[in-house]
Amino acid sequence: MSELPNGFTGFSSSFSTDTQLPYSREFLPRTKTEPLSFDPEKLASIPGPERRWAWVEIDLNAIRHNVMVTKQRIGQGCRLMAVVKADAYGHGAVRVAKTAVNSGAEYLGVATIDEAIELREAMINVPILLLVEPPMSAIPLLLAYKVMPTVYTPEFAILYAETADAHRLRAPFHLKVNTGMNRIGVRFDEVVDFMARIDFHRALDLVGTFTHFATADCDETLDFQIQIKRFLEAVNALRASGVNPGIIHAANSAAIFRYPEVHFDMVRLGISLYGFHPCRQTRMAVELHPAMSVHACITDVKTVPMSEGVSYGMLYRSPGSVKICTLPLGYADGLRRGLSGRIDVILDGQRCRQVGTICMDQCMFEVDMRVYGNRPRLNPQIGDEVIVVGQQGDSVITIDDLTGILQTVPHEVAIGFANRMPRVYC
Ligand SMILES: *Cc1c(COP(=O)(O)O)cnc(C)c1O
Repeated sequence: MSELPNGFTGFSSSFSTDTQLPYSREFLPRTKTEPLSFDPEKLASIPGPERRWAWVEIDLNAIRHNVMVTKQRIGQGCRLMAVVKADAYGHGAVRVAKTAVNSGAEYLGVATIDEAIELREAMINVPILLLVEPPMSAIPLLLAYKVMPTVYTPEFAILYAETADAHRLRAPFHLKVNTGMNRIGVRFDEVVDFMARIDFHRALDLVGTFTHFATADCDETLDFQIQIKRFLEAVNALRASGVNPGIIHAANSAAIFRYPEVHFDMVRLGISLYGFHPCRQTRMAVELHPAMSVHACITDVKTVPMSEGVSYGMLYRSPGSVKICTLPLGYADGLRRGLSGRIDVILDGQRCRQVGTICMDQCMFEVDMRVYGNRPRLNPQIGDEVIVVGQQGDSVITIDDLTGILQTVPHEVAIGFANRMPRVYC
């Protein structure tokens, strides 16, 4: 038997009864028996949190709740697109999409053709809009998997139509209008010319017309008002030229809850599908339930003598009266390094300070062992579960808290936690 140099050469198979050995026979281990084998099915069935002591939990009831409150807000006659790009903002695209569709979402939004294919292969059959125009080489994939593209260049539109025609298929699409975000789209005052250039093609179906707001989550509203005005101008010009613009849509999460006047025929629910507020103003407007929580178990506990440092750079020094506990997650798992020393974790319902620099795969927190008043003294042990994001008792740590510290958007923080940790649905 040839042995691979992987460090796990079994000693039983390296012995043979023919070899001269300096041991008596009774000391020989497991000769001539089959080496122990591990059942691949049993191995595969060891769940994520038992493979590593850090994981993400996704509460699908929260997703259901967030879809339902949004449906109530937009009323009948307005469709809801669940935006499940970037693996549903780190929550798992297939599970979230199925839950959203079962709760009343009529459309799904994605950013890449592969994200759309993943949904189709999971037998999800509702309309899927690719929120960008993909390279022309992806056109066969769009048609084969029945994924509608966003369109804003005539070259793409014509090739898409011709390819569809050659397969005797329709070529449905949504037209993107640039009303001021200046990311992608046909400029608002050029949509009539644009449609005139491509409209001759019989396979093309303009199913929807949409724009995207740059400042729906900002305090200042003038730019937002300008974008609405330009969008309406574009839609009306299309109608006046005899083009039916189809489903009109514009609102992202912030606009859905702040500006009912831009609900039009469909809204695109992204960050609030997952229970997060895009800005301060939506907090009063709607009650959302965050779906994501982050959990870990303690992997090491020790008393560090007074003034000894902890972690890279030793930016934290032990006061001696604490136990230092280690968790097996770090910035490679989305616990961003910029949070070092600025967050708490929850152990047995009590907040404990994260201390020292957050490493790539691990971080530390301190448990104060002094006794004050009637506060129960904690007794951290290896294997104890800790909440990094979530709620336990009266203690809550939210994605929003981390977002505030990092001066970013909740989108970025939530997606970070999808990097490497196993995901559990409940
Ligand atoms: C991502 C995205 C959305 C969703 O935005 P949220 O702020 O997460 O609600 C809506 N529309 C487009 C075009 C997007 O790219």
